[in-house]
Amino acid sequence: CGIFAYLNYNVGRERRYILEVLLNGLRRLEYRGYDSAGIAIDSDLSLEVQNENGKCKPYDSASPLVFRQEGKIESLVTSVYSAVDKLDLDLEKLFLVHAGIAHTRWATHGVPAPKNSHPQSSGQFDEFLVVHNGIITNYEVLKQTLIRQGFTFESDTDTEVIPKLAKFVFDQARDGEGGVTFSQVVMEVMRQLEGAYALIFKSPHYPNELIACKRGSTLILGVNELGGETSRHLFHDVKALTANEKPKELFFSSDLCAIVEHTKNYAAIEDNEIVHIKDGSVSILRFDYEKEMPASVQRALSV
Ligand code: GLU
Repeated sequence: CGIFAYLNYNVGRERRYILEVLLNGLRRLEYRGYDSAGIAIDSDLSLEVQNENGKCKPYDSASPLVFRQEGKIESLVTSVYSAVDKLDLDLEKLFLVHAGIAHTRWATHGVPAPKNSHPQSSGQFDEFLVVHNGIITNYEVLKQTLIRQGFTFESDTDTEVIPKLAKFVFDQARDGEGGVTFSQVVMEVMRQLEGAYALIFKSPHYPNELIACKRGSTLILGVNELGGETSRHLFHDVKALTANEKPKELFFSSDLCAIVEHTKNYAAIEDNEIVHIKDGSVSILRFDYEKEMPASVQRALSV
């Protein structure tokens, strides 16, 4: 399959319409999977809230917009734009949305259908959304554990355990020890997963953040224009960005073919790397097997 993500920190006229960038990314990746597709973008509401006071509103009012469709990319394109019309979404506001994730699927578990398309969700309010390229080999065991913890599954995919596991870790850690970072949540999810995957996570609990990670499957990070000095930052520098160097645009893709039209600055993410985007800065962490998780999470997951 193909995954694609776009983060846009341009302002004014340079800003591009996020739906177009995402859907074009999927068109480029369509040769990798073409039985269904989907996208999710931050809602305009969450963006307003972030801008006003830098805080996230309760997740129900900051829920992302999710579109999933069986069939070719063009059927997703049609359904996205007809939803934009029908919901009377404010195009100006959509234009301002800064982050989105996208997926074109080649089903391994579960027939092509909207409910099996990605992004897969943690459940009501889409507290965690995930696009996945690959196969989770221990999904049955994880699914049973999560069902025992009260989760209801809606799809037949192996992928659905991932966002649900993220929500489970988040809830346990939040209730138990008073908070957990987005990268801690993802690290704990990675610890539980077996198989091959490239993943992108979004969550309204972490507005202005996005996480990408991988083991096995390919994932490429593209970075556009650092303070107007693009040419100085070539291939090998992309992963050496500091917190002060805020790119204007960031891309993730399963294949270079969806990135080269936007930027020549790119790098392949390595196995066990976790790329954490927060407020426009990029940090790359390494998955650490030994890292301790809050005791409440460990206890809950070991039942
Ligand atoms: N195994 C996942 C599914 O069937 C992802 C497949 C893909 O890589 O497209 O939904």
